[in-house]
Amino acid sequence: MADIVIIGAGPAGISAAEVLCAKGLRPVLIDEGAQAGGQGYRRPADDLALDMNRLMGSEAGKYTALHRRFEMLRPKIDYRPRTLVWAIDGSQLHLLRDGQAQTLDFDKLLIASGAMDRVAPLTGWTLPGVFTLGGAQVALKDQGCLIGSRVAFLGSSPLLALAAKQYRDMGAEIAVIADTTPLAAKVAALPALLRAPRTLRRGIWYMAASLRAGTPMLHGVTPVAVEGENRVEALVLRDKRGREHRFACDAVALGYGLKPETQLADLARAEFAYDPGFRLHLPKIDGLGRARPGLYLAGDGVRIGGADAAEASGALAAHAILSDLSHPQDIEVVRRLARRVKRLRNFQRGLARAFAWPTAQIAALSDSVTLCRCENVTVGAVRAEMCREFGPIEVNRVKAMTRCGMGRCQGRVCGPALQEIVAAEAGQDGALAGRLRGQAPIKPIALAAAGYPT
Ligand SMILES: Cc1cc2nc3c(=O)[nH]c(=O)nc-3n(C[C@H](O)[C@H](O)[C@H](O)COP(=O)(O)OP(=O)(O)OC[C@H]3O[C@@H](n4cnc5c(N)ncnc54)[C@H](O)[C@@H]3O)c2cc1C
Repeated sequence: MADIVIIGAGPAGISAAEVLCAKGLRPVLIDEGAQAGGQGYRRPADDLALDMNRLMGSEAGKYTALHRRFEMLRPKIDYRPRTLVWAIDGSQLHLLRDGQAQTLDFDKLLIASGAMDRVAPLTGWTLPGVFTLGGAQVALKDQGCLIGSRVAFLGSSPLLALAAKQYRDMGAEIAVIADTTPLAAKVAALPALLRAPRTLRRGIWYMAASLRAGTPMLHGVTPVAVEGENRVEALVLRDKRGREHRFACDAVALGYGLKPETQLADLARAEFAYDPGFRLHLPKIDGLGRARPGLYLAGDGVRIGGADAAEASGALAAHAILSDLSHPQDIEVVRRLARRVKRLRNFQRGLARAFAWPTAQIAALSDSVTLCRCENVTVGAVRAEMCREFGPIEVNRVKAMTRCGMGRCQGRVCGPALQEIVAAEAGQDGALAGRLRGQAPIKPIALAAAGYPT
């Protein structure tokens, strides 16, 4: 039995553990990765000679500081790397550590599970050579390899220009950076973006760096197809005037911003509500990150806010735990953290407008496009099922009828696009289309680990 368990050793989980340790507590910190740091501050294996200072650019100082802080924290906590939490049952976690099944009971649980890419399907996105934008970054930061030698970046996300710069610095040629949101939307979102001027400056600097390098940058495009015989050979786009452009490339990185990884929060019985700004169903939390008694959520895993907001919200949730354990609190520190989290998360709302999720483009996808890669379900198959008399109009029913979202990824990849297709087809908004319920195991594991005879 552990008193306090934190899932996720990214900035949110690490700063939460620091606050708890400062009060003499010894939390368990679990992460499926071999190294702490999370996604943004991912640390490569020690034997990989990667120049992280160069790769992290203006964020190198924060990267180094977080890892230094973690090394100081490590002896004071029960740190369990390479440990996947694949299910939560009441107050018990089901873990898989180095292939071995374990359980762990907890009294208080803080989930800081981070985010993953939100992707919109297009014709040809199942070809070898198409990666998510985050996957392209993981390849670089975790394994020191590039997804291709001439890479096209497609989607709508501030991370497109950042990842393109990292790829360029590491020797790749950038075929194009293509954003589906018009430039005018970015200009309109400027007042909200000025809430975090430093981050805004950094974003503009990355875009300027791409222009200086001569990389074609398009805004307001409509993706047509990824083309290729057996692997990626080109990306075809339509510009605002309806003209088609073909960019030869050997890889495509696809990213439409991030979405919180909420499956664990779901299994831990958090309540959800639809957020029309992000067009996502998100767990409900109070101002400190409490989802219900004994359950706390922090970082990008509950609201996309970026690394700084993740750190502050992790510390804030740790203060909520301390308060619930009747530890005396410094109210001014808590207020300051809450203000910081609010400001940075509001900045992300501005980003969500400047780099919009392309609902209309998804609704207009042709029937032949693969929607669920795991189960090979097309957009047309979903529409056909919904068109039947008394056909389903809610995503979990659609999943039951078509197997869309029922495969290895459990709908983590196709879920957001499925929600838009269902909403458009039924003529309702995303709230009524519903959300795919979290199911254990949240990631693929061996049946034997789940206790099934093999
Ligand atoms: C692929 C990717 C790349 C990114 N790159 C950048 C970047 O270059 N620059 C930038 O500013 N932002 C980047 N971000 C944004 C980044 O999410 C945040 O800025 C920041 O890392 C959020 O911190 P966090 O602590 O909330 O989550 P994270 O840093 O994501 O940490 C969450 C941790 O939880 C662990 N975890 C999740 N689920 C489980 C489970 N079931 N069992 C055990 N452990 C689990 C993960 O292994 C991870 O280490 C990236 C995001 C993604 C998804």
